[in-house]
Amino acid sequence: MRIMGDVFAMLKGGPMISQQIDTIMPTGLQTITDTFDRPLRNVRLSVTDRCNLRCQYCMPEEEYVWLPRTNMLTFEEIAMLVDVFTDLGVDKVRLTGGEPLLRKELPVLVRMLAHKARIKDLALTTNGVLLSEQADALYEAGLHRLTVSLDTLDPQRFQALTRRDMHVRVLAGIEAARQRGFHGLKLDTVVMRGYNDDELIDLIEYGKRVGAEVRFIEYMDVGGATHWSMDRVFSRADMLTRLRQYYGRIETVVEVSSAPAQRFRLPDGTIFGIIASTTMPFCRTCDRSRLTADGMWYLCLYATKGIDLRQPLRDGASLQELAAIITAGWQARRDRGAEERKALEQRGSRETLVQLERLRQDPHLEMHTRGG
Ligand code: SF4
Repeated sequence: MRIMGDVFAMLKGGPMISQQIDTIMPTGLQTITDTFDRPLRNVRLSVTDRCNLRCQYCMPEEEYVWLPRTNMLTFEEIAMLVDVFTDLGVDKVRLTGGEPLLRKELPVLVRMLAHKARIKDLALTTNGVLLSEQADALYEAGLHRLTVSLDTLDPQRFQALTRRDMHVRVLAGIEAARQRGFHGLKLDTVVMRGYNDDELIDLIEYGKRVGAEVRFIEYMDVGGATHWSMDRVFSRADMLTRLRQYYGRIETVVEVSSAPAQRFRLPDGTIFGIIASTTMPFCRTCDRSRLTADGMWYLCLYATKGIDLRQPLRDGASLQELAAIITAGWQARRDRGAEERKALEQRGSRETLVQLERLRQDPHLEMHTRGG
């Protein structure tokens, strides 16, 4: 426990935090694998469960149970856990929420993580509402990449979907990111039949104008999606048919990657992606895990149980002890949630993953809590 005490002493010491933690970590970089031989490479860090929108596919109800603020990990605690994760082979970190830009002083955390040499890809997913105010600070703090959620180009539809009148702010945020020069800007669109499936072409054309790669995501029946139904899923096959009717030939981009999006090329060279989690799950290559803002670690988007890292951290567990907890958890991992959901016969009905009552009892099951 002395090492942890030393770490806390150093954390109070100021700006050299990440370097100091790095120096006390074991030096050998490891790779740990789960029961299906999938490495742990990717952690999505939720920095808050709060959100300033109420998107129907993520937060369809009127009221929510929020995580207690006292349970939120501090930036120092997050940085410490990231050190443990990166020592175990993680090299991709994505900041998520809720809406991550609601977390106060987020660029401070970005700067702490951007200094860590083992993180090859430091990205952030945002709904864009606060982006025009924060794009400069995030860029200067060293954020590598940005993904902005944009489900529609129609302000009225946006308001109906999100129950907030903020479309103009999202577009301003995307423009601010473009002007700031973020490379690899992506726009994520959840496609729902009867809602925005008629906007695929408009969104691709908008992406071209702002220099962003558009990724279409199938509507998923994750925790919190209490209004999901198979009827509303506009599948990858549907999307490609719709896009071919307009653009003609569409080529598949051949690449070896564990990224969730399969990428395609239009005749003019424009690249777009489809994340077909519902109809063509990609669990067999999944190297992702999720850490909630209060330190629960989930090994799958569909997992109903997580591993509590906050308690041992605050009880004074050493970095090695935390590494042992994470290693044991990952090595026992058998999760392949999307594949199992796909195999369910009753999925075609309105069978949701988690019933509303249970979500009220355990907010960790909500998608906005664990990050999409
Ligand atoms: S469902 Fe779970 S295992 Fe499958 S890709 Fe998503 S997070 Fe990974």
